[in-house]
Amino acid sequence: MLNRNLNLELLRNDAFDVCIIGGGSAGAGCALDAALRGMKVALIEKTDFAAETSGKSTKLVHGGVRYLEQAFRKLDLAQLNQVKHGLQERRFVLGNAPHLARPLALATPVFNWWSGVYYFLGLKLYDWFAPGRSGMPPGKWTGKRKLDKLFPGLNKGIRSAIVYYDGQLDDARYNLALIQSANQSGAVVANYVELQEFSSDRSGAITAATVLDRQSDTAFSIRARVFLNCTGPAADSVRLKANPELTPVIKPSKGAHILVSMPQQKASCALLIPKTADNRVAFAIPFEGRMMIGTTDEPCENPELEPYADRSDTDFLLETINPYLETPLSRAQVTSGFAGLRPLVNLSSNNKHTKAILRDHLVEQDERSGLVSLLGGKWTTYRLMAKDAVDVIANRLGMHIPCSTENHLLWGANGWSPDFYKKIQAEYKIDEDVSQHLADKYGTSAVVVARLAQEDPLLSERLVTEQPFLKAEVVYAVRHEMALEIRDFLSRRIRLELTDFRLCAAAAPEVARIMADELGWSPGQKEARLHEYLSAHFFTL
Ligand SMILES: Cc1cc2nc3c(=O)[nH]c(=O)nc-3n(C[C@H](O)[C@H](O)[C@H](O)COP(=O)(O)OP(=O)(O)OC[C@H]3O[C@@H](n4cnc5c(N)ncnc54)[C@H](O)[C@@H]3O)c2cc1C
Repeated sequence: MLNRNLNLELLRNDAFDVCIIGGGSAGAGCALDAALRGMKVALIEKTDFAAETSGKSTKLVHGGVRYLEQAFRKLDLAQLNQVKHGLQERRFVLGNAPHLARPLALATPVFNWWSGVYYFLGLKLYDWFAPGRSGMPPGKWTGKRKLDKLFPGLNKGIRSAIVYYDGQLDDARYNLALIQSANQSGAVVANYVELQEFSSDRSGAITAATVLDRQSDTAFSIRARVFLNCTGPAADSVRLKANPELTPVIKPSKGAHILVSMPQQKASCALLIPKTADNRVAFAIPFEGRMMIGTTDEPCENPELEPYADRSDTDFLLETINPYLETPLSRAQVTSGFAGLRPLVNLSSNNKHTKAILRDHLVEQDERSGLVSLLGGKWTTYRLMAKDAVDVIANRLGMHIPCSTENHLLWGANGWSPDFYKKIQAEYKIDEDVSQHLADKYGTSAVVVARLAQEDPLLSERLVTEQPFLKAEVVYAVRHEMALEIRDFLSRRIRLELTDFRLCAAAAPEVARIMADELGWSPGQKEARLHEYLSAHFFTL
């Protein structure tokens, strides 16, 4: 259970071995790794856990078939290593939280014999690089009849496809499970706490950080032996706070997705489009009962502003997917959209094209300030990234305890199995779709939500009739998951904001009412928060 007030008290009064700045996948992964090694860990997050890139990814746990192709075309060993890292980590990501991550079949359409042979050999190589294949079936060249079952509604001209397997995760909930697991292992974590500035000694070495609790608007100081910068696209601003002489290295790139409801929502497989008009890979992936189509890749000039899926992203993604479908999708079928910033590292200043920059990670130690920065990387490799960063810190602190996250089950995973939902359904007499949803999102903690619903009939009601989300989940999110704002719940504790703007707007007033009761907001505060949420720019398509 996450207790923010208690954790704030500890942040103010304790001294830590390491203070992690940023609560995305990189920061949360580092907090768990360091806490398991016995370090005294603090983690602060400016907004909510996974509020930035880590909650807005394509949600694939993969080595990256595109990077494999580039590795061979350009004879690039670094790209090849990155693919190997991804494939090696895939099994740990899936194995450590099977309620939140699972295998996903992806079909690459084949239009002629030569391209079929090319993709088939590529995917055999991809499978070959995966150690023990992570329990995934091997890739296969699949005929039309089977393909139509896997992905109904495909363009009739597509006669076959190469079907292979990667993983899919619920990124924001996985991020939260890492935070919960870190907290359970002793890390002191808090959201809505922002790094403002560092205090340094005469040599420039950081001794403490001044941070702002953005809920109470009060500043305080955190003492730690090492500060670890895990702020993703914002990493340069923290590096420059530590040492203004450092050269910026982050080149953020915007990636957008749109979600549509369509007959293909029954698809049990994703579609990989190997070449878009701008020469990239795009995906159409079943997610939460919708089809998620993405992604774009464009340089972002102002990483301070939250990116969102705009009209041009929507048009581009519809133009990309439509040639592959029997009935083209229209703008009216788009139910929502979202965008994130890739924290790409660009060590060469003349590399202007973001799709050509390596997505692997880098651990930087600034000699003058002592700041350690974990830069770049991707969701799939968060554990390896954390291991590399915490190894550096352990070395500095003289704490030589090895990493133990490879097979560390995350919050909610212990005792969970794919038919866990049946147990909750039978015990708490709830609808099957609700028990399936609770088991898949909360793992074994689903029983706590189910109990809340059982104890109060009002909380057993759905937030919106079309979806399995219960009012009890709002209470649970506030009491146990540090949800403090309407958006924390609608966007990250459940994923309704990502999948359907209309349903999200319909659910928001009731979410606000329950949160106001739980958090003691006045009627005026509740209305102001609701108005601010519903008029936010990201609801525009
Ligand atoms: C569109 C898109 C699709 C992607 N798809 C995939 C995919 O399918 N698979 C995959 O493996 N990877 C994918 N990635 C990459 C992956 O999502 C990112 O590499 C990863 O999530 C980055 O995590 P992070 O923790 O470094 O950054 P973030 O998630 O951005 O976390 C950094 C955190 O630091 C906080 N912060 C910033 N400044 C401060 C401060 N001053 N004080 C306190 N906190 C601060 C921010 O609020 C933020 O929450 C995708 C990325 C994008 C953009």
